[in-house]
Amino acid sequence: MDGMPLSQATALITLVVPVFNEEDTIPIFIDAVRQLRLDHLRARLEVLFVNDGSTDATLSILRGLQAREDFVGYIDLSRNFGKEAAMTAGLEHARGDAVIPMDVDLQDPPELIADMVARWRDGAEVVLARRTNRDSDTAIKRTTASWFYKVHNLLASPKIPDNVGDYRLMDRKVVEALKQLPESRRFMKGLFAWIGFQTAEVSYTRSERVAGQTKFNGWKLWNFALEGLTSFSTTPLRIWTYLGFFVAIPSLVYAIFIVMRSLLIGSDVPGYASLIVAICFLGGLQLIGIGVLGEYLGRTYLEAKGRPVYIVRECELPPTRQA
Ligand code: UDP
Ligand code: MG
Repeated sequence: MDGMPLSQATALITLVVPVFNEEDTIPIFIDAVRQLRLDHLRARLEVLFVNDGSTDATLSILRGLQAREDFVGYIDLSRNFGKEAAMTAGLEHARGDAVIPMDVDLQDPPELIADMVARWRDGAEVVLARRTNRDSDTAIKRTTASWFYKVHNLLASPKIPDNVGDYRLMDRKVVEALKQLPESRRFMKGLFAWIGFQTAEVSYTRSERVAGQTKFNGWKLWNFALEGLTSFSTTPLRIWTYLGFFVAIPSLVYAIFIVMRSLLIGSDVPGYASLIVAICFLGGLQLIGIGVLGEYLGRTYLEAKGRPVYIVRECELPPTRQA
């Protein structure tokens, strides 16, 4: 920017786009981005794709685009690290004055970018894109997603906003803050919420994927939800303390009662059913408790190794142009 205040200079906006087997969608996405005009906002766009270990023609398409277009770059990861890691790679390499992570399937509509940039120009540090309806998602996905937000926000803090995905504009200083968070298991929605900053919102209707298939099935989403919860809350651990008291205190009372009764009246042998029920119930509780403990221990173990979040095989950033 050569010392010129940002408000007068042309700002660079980097779109960070993780792609995993998206040979059908990338050309459509690039056409849509090419249509965008941000001159009146004194901004220009560049696109930084992150190839997340695709096994189709994605990488060669990206290489071709990078050679032909002066606003396209790509990072090629050494294997599939998952969307969160791919997004992290993109955010760490992006050079824009503002950065926007977005999906390649046009479910995050590029038309919204002008609004976001305008809000950013007005002083917002983060501009969230909120989905006003999710009719394009299946009923199951909508219901489970809303349960997830409810449970997560009940147990974890800070709360993550409902109906907001990864699609958002972040000012350079927000991106720098994100880069400082050291954890290697990255639940981006939670990290975005954690760093805070002044936030504005724009809204949109989520449409269907333009081409290709979703990469997230039910099992992946379930694990993703667990990841989010355990990353941002230790309440599941604490629940066991309370449950322990809840079981132990009545047990103590009951124990005193039995001992007294045995002393005063003598013991009667029956009691098999209640004995077995108590053993099974407590055994089950203990196993669940150990499972929850294990979940956190496992996370601690993985974090302790301190492995990098992703490995880059090849990196071609968009050429820097003097604005
Ligand atoms: N994606 C990725 N790595 C993965 C899975 C997905 O980079 O392991 C990318 C994918 O190419 C797309 C974005 O993440 O750009 C969102 O994926 P998708 O549309 O399949 O998710 P959905 O919209 O169904 O939640
Ligand atoms: Mg999608």
